[in-house]
Amino acid sequence: AIASHELKTPITSLQGYLELLAVKTEKNNDPFFINIVARARNQVKRMTTLIHSFLDVSRLESGKIHLETQTFNIGDLITEIITDIGETNPDHDIILHPTSPITVTADREKIGEVISNLLHNAVKYSPSARKIEVFSGESNGYFEFSVKDLGAGIKEKDINKLFDRFYRVVSAEDKPTIPGFGLGLYLCYEIIQRHKGKIWVKSDFSKGSTFYFTLPVTH
Ligand code: ADP
Repeated sequence: AIASHELKTPITSLQGYLELLAVKTEKNNDPFFINIVARARNQVKRMTTLIHSFLDVSRLESGKIHLETQTFNIGDLITEIITDIGETNPDHDIILHPTSPITVTADREKIGEVISNLLHNAVKYSPSARKIEVFSGESNGYFEFSVKDLGAGIKEKDINKLFDRFYRVVSAEDKPTIPGFGLGLYLCYEIIQRHKGKIWVKSDFSKGSTFYFTLPVTH
C-alpha cells in the first residue's frame, strides 16, 4: 500500500508532462513523435491502472474499501470504456450490441474498473482473434453484462480458481505466459460481490470465453 501510494505522485506528474508533450507534438504534426507520445501515454495509463489495483487490494484486505454510490445509466459507461479501449487496441474489433438505457445505483468508478478489466482481458487473451462482443440487458430486476472473446479459452480445472487472488493459469509448455499479476478478476469479484451482484465465466478451451456480471437495477 505504501509503495503504491508513493508511486502515485511521480506517475501523475509524468502523465501531466506527457499531456503537454502531446499538445506540442500535435501542433508540430510529426507522425513519428505523435506515435511515440501516444504509446508513452498508453503505458503510463497501464501503470496507473496497476497501481490502483494494488491499492484496491490492500484496501480490501484491511476492510477499508468503501463504495461511493450514485445513480447512472450504465450503457453510457460501457460506451465510454469501449471507445477508450478500442482506440488503443486497433488489432481488435469490439462490437457493442445496443440496448435500451438501464439505470443502476453503484460506484461508477469501480464498476468501470470491472468492465475495463474484463475487456482488457478479452483483448489480452485473444491475441489472434479480432472479434470481441459486448452484450448488456435487463432481466428479472438485474442488469446483465457480458463480454465474449474467441481467444485462448480456459480449462475446466482452472475455472473455479480464476477469481482467486493471484491466480493465473499456467500456459501450455510451448507458449510464453502473457504478463500479469492475477489480481484483475479477484478485484472484479470483490467489487461485484459488494454491489450484491454475481460474476461468472463460461469457456471452451482454445475456442474462447464469455465473462458475465449482474447488478441490481434501479427503477
Ligand atoms: P492477469 O490477467 O493479471 O493474470 P486476472 O485476474 O485478470 O489476472 O486473470 C486471471 C487469469 O485468468 C489470467 O492469468 C488468465 O489465465 C485467465 N483469464 C482471464 N481472462 C481471460 C480470457 N478472457 N480468456 C482466457 N483466459 C483468461
